[in-house]
Amino acid sequence: MNNEQIINTGKRQDKSAAANAQNANAAGFAVNSSPLTVLNAHCRFRNDKRKVKRPAFANCSPPLKVPVYEIFFSYQGEGLYTGLPQIFVRFAGCNIKCGYCDTAYSVKISDKAYYMSAQDLLKQIKKIYKDNKKSFSFGKPSVALTGGEPLIHAGFLKYFLPMLRKEGFCAYLETNATMPERLKKILKFCGIVSMDFKFASDCGKSFWKKHEEFLKIAKNKVFIKCVITNKTKFAEIQKSVSIIKKISKNTHLILQPSADKRSRPKLADIYRFYSYAQKQLPNIHLMAQMHKVYGMR
Ligand code: SF4
Repeated sequence: MNNEQIINTGKRQDKSAAANAQNANAAGFAVNSSPLTVLNAHCRFRNDKRKVKRPAFANCSPPLKVPVYEIFFSYQGEGLYTGLPQIFVRFAGCNIKCGYCDTAYSVKISDKAYYMSAQDLLKQIKKIYKDNKKSFSFGKPSVALTGGEPLIHAGFLKYFLPMLRKEGFCAYLETNATMPERLKKILKFCGIVSMDFKFASDCGKSFWKKHEEFLKIAKNKVFIKCVITNKTKFAEIQKSVSIIKKISKNTHLILQPSADKRSRPKLADIYRFYSYAQKQLPNIHLMAQMHKVYGMR
């Protein structure tokens, strides 16, 4: 069975996709049926359990196949481009572990991941674009490379992104910004980089040096996101601001309070962090995750 057959066959409706559809409709959000068809199709695709040989991580040369959990159409739910229709590719595997991770299944590479070649991946992206063309009135959309951590697969991306660009798609990289040396390999093929600052209070350790280096490399294409939880320390916001101020003070910084009830920060802390940051830097945004509000993907 090839990838196309995996996407096109089967009638089983995935429960989470159905719940998403209901929530989206209940919220009055304009989700038409064709993206949901794709969502359902990709849940089947994600659940494919065939045994496949695992490739080495980014260093395989040439990079043959990478583990992917899902490919789907949706709207960007966070950051500067919130609301933008995009095609999402969720790669499997992550090099760190954040307490607030909302895609915990993607951190490990399990046998639910499907191994795809660059050609297969491009074919599916083109198919999703074709199926949802009405949602992309502005032309070819950006493709959100997410995970997990996509830069784990930098070797593959170096090979794949020029192909994606040649087809007219813009690469939108979502990353934990802990592997600047890998970013260097692919930055020229990326249109937008959404980088996180990861804090020790939630992710077990800090990555300030890596983040600094990452920002220096990505600074003309990047915006930064900090997830704020009830564990976030004022000193972590101060450090984030100081790095941006030093390297590229006009970079947009999104303060994103956690949507999870268990880790939601106090309003007083949100105000304190925001008011501190906006006195130091010109482009500070306080934004929630839209897809969580509307029960979207
Ligand atoms: S970096 Fe992203 S995918 Fe990895 S654990 Fe943190 S939130 Fe999850």
